[in-house]
Amino acid sequence: MNNPKLSIIDTHAHMDADEFALDCDAVIARAMESGVNRIITCGTGVESSEKVIALAEKYSQVYAAVGIHPQEIAGVLQADISRIAELAKHPKVVALGEMGLDFHRPNVDRNRQIQILKWQLDLANELKLPVIIHNRQATSEMIHILNDWITKSHTQSPGVIHCFQENITNARIFLEMGFYLAFGGYIGYPNSPLQEIIKGIPENRLLVETDCPYLPPQKYRGKRNEPAYITLTVEKMTEILGTTAEQVGKQTTENAMRLFKL
Ligand SMILES: [Zn+2]
Repeated sequence: MNNPKLSIIDTHAHMDADEFALDCDAVIARAMESGVNRIITCGTGVESSEKVIALAEKYSQVYAAVGIHPQEIAGVLQADISRIAELAKHPKVVALGEMGLDFHRPNVDRNRQIQILKWQLDLANELKLPVIIHNRQATSEMIHILNDWITKSHTQSPGVIHCFQENITNARIFLEMGFYLAFGGYIGYPNSPLQEIIKGIPENRLLVETDCPYLPPQKYRGKRNEPAYITLTVEKMTEILGTTAEQVGKQTTENAMRLFKL
């Protein structure tokens, strides 16, 4: 799809993934042709955070978030948080993350995940940066931790719950705390309950993202996802909200600019 009037920010990509190693230039070019004018690429560990900064230096349209993903906590020490803090001072770093809790797999060390999440939340508070939260099958623990953090930090604009796939009750809890909710290609999967949920979310808290190379939209399921495919998510959101693609692009862009101070 090539719509010259569209302007979209992909608020969550993993451009440092091996899947993009061979054709990153072409992927970025296709994104720009589709109307994606900025891409926030998220680190998942120290090395990955260094890589996303290098990408942000190479491409003017790419911004970086640095952090440690809950599935990448093996061997992580508090010293690594100091390294993340150093990286976060780079002028193109707009958030801390991807951080969070993932209790999906049976043998994860939940206490360790919680500890490393709390270290990063404290750092976000210190650096006054928004956070990008990954939450999978850990909602009650997550709400508890974020509530404590927000009470302590007094932040009005704490960050985004990325890849939101929950019910409206939990959506309201996160909204009440000040979070934005980001949605990806999965909102177009057949019978997705999220289509109803999106209608209940204030438009000034909606963000779009790809989480590429993961979670492709229905049309590309089983294939690599990339930022250009975000137009399919925008189209779906347009249909759900009964508006135009330009309006969804404009509103979600304004939201992303406000949250990430772009
Ligand atoms: Zn991600």
